Amino acid sequence: MKDRYDVLIVGGGPAGSTAARFAAQNGVSVCLLERDREIGVPVRCAEGVSDTGIRKIIDINPNWIAATIKRFRFHSPTKKYVDVSSNEIGYVFYRRIFDHDLAVEAAKSGVEIFTKATVCGFTKTEDGFTNVLVRYENRERTVQAKIVIAADGIESRIARMAGIRTNLALKDIESCAQVLAGNVDIDPGRIDFYLSEKWSPGGYVWVFPKGNRMANIGLGVNGSMAKGRSASEYLNEFLDQNFPNASRLTTIYGGVPVTTNLSRLVEDGLMIIGDAAHQVNPLTGGGISSAMAAGKMAGIVAADAIHCGDISRKKLCTYENEWNRTIGKDYRRFYRLKEWIRNMTDKEFEEIASAFQGMAPTDVKISSIFRMAVKNKPSLIVDAIKVFAGF
Ligand SMILES: Cc1cc2nc3c(=O)[nH]c(=O)nc-3n(C[C@H](O)[C@H](O)[C@H](O)COP(=O)(O)OP(=O)(O)OC[C@H]3O[C@@H](n4cnc5c(N)ncnc54)[C@H](O)[C@@H]3O)c2cc1C
Repeated sequence: MKDRYDVLIVGGGPAGSTAARFAAQNGVSVCLLERDREIGVPVRCAEGVSDTGIRKIIDINPNWIAATIKRFRFHSPTKKYVDVSSNEIGYVFYRRIFDHDLAVEAAKSGVEIFTKATVCGFTKTEDGFTNVLVRYENRERTVQAKIVIAADGIESRIARMAGIRTNLALKDIESCAQVLAGNVDIDPGRIDFYLSEKWSPGGYVWVFPKGNRMANIGLGVNGSMAKGRSASEYLNEFLDQNFPNASRLTTIYGGVPVTTNLSRLVEDGLMIIGDAAHQVNPLTGGGISSAMAAGKMAGIVAADAIHCGDISRKKLCTYENEWNRTIGKDYRRFYRLKEWIRNMTDKEFEEIASAFQGMAPTDVKISSIFRMAVKNKPSLIVDAIKVFAGF
């Protein structure tokens, strides 16, 4: 590890590896530090992605794909279901391999990567550099960087250390539990969603196939609606009732921010990306492709700032503005939809399922389902049409 880099990235998830690769490809020196001993492990994710979301950033390697998805099924509380076919292809990935390969691509672009390297704090120097305190190989050292990119996930401490407000309201957090289930009888090309106040209040249950009769089965429970029960209690009850013969091969827990992104994504010499910046789709909880999109934007802007010799907030705001103008704008629409849907009752879910009974999947569009869900709130109909155009 050198004493000084142009850009230092904290965290080796999809956001960090992507930012690192794009910064290095644009001609600056980059160091990426990851706290865990192995990039991509542990996996805390249902691993679902869309083809277009990933392909905007990187070509898809077939080794990443556990299942290819062309169909969706929504289940009502009484187990009526609505089938939807989509023009959009999705995948369930092996994130362990995917995250690892993103880091390999960054390394090939010249990024220096260190695992078991934890960033513990930082201070500003008088000449505008940042002194980053790193615990690595059982000792603490200081590494200087012109720009620090915080890609340190939902539990991010870097943004908070910089004085940025990162706390989340309870209603804007989903507490999640998931098992990798074996011996499940499912359609290997379809993902299933179960919507009910009893199974996952303020969230949903997902069943994402992983091939070989396996699936990621998990759920999110809204922080303000959990009624004192943990996500794992809800999940166990759901599994007992719906997949009584499933083996529970691995169990994971994690939080997902379901809010709009931080109001400040940059400061002088600092950029925040991915889950650390709350750049997650607040309706679905999906954050992989948006973390990578933010990483790409931030990496390119960081390199340009270094070449221009200007690492001020004003210069770095190119990233903040681009995010807010594009994905951030869509995510504010998704947030308004999520705020409405989170409070829907089982009776309302049932009514929607009933309205679509007997229809062929090709005739059911996701946008129609959401338009029906918000029919009593006309101001949201435009949001539903805009964000689901093309589905
Ligand atoms: C249960 C669950 C299911 C999910 N399912 C999906 C899904 O199906 N599809 C989808 O798109 N998204 C899903 N998500 C969300 C998705 O996992 C995240 O949005 C995505 O991983 C964000 O990437 P990131 O790089 O910002 O953060 P992360 O992937 O969390 O990476 C952050 C990295 O920073 C490291 N780090 C933290 N602090 C430090 C430090 N001080 N020093 C050095 N390293 C540090 C961490 O070890 C970690 O490796 C799910 C999340 C959960 C919890």
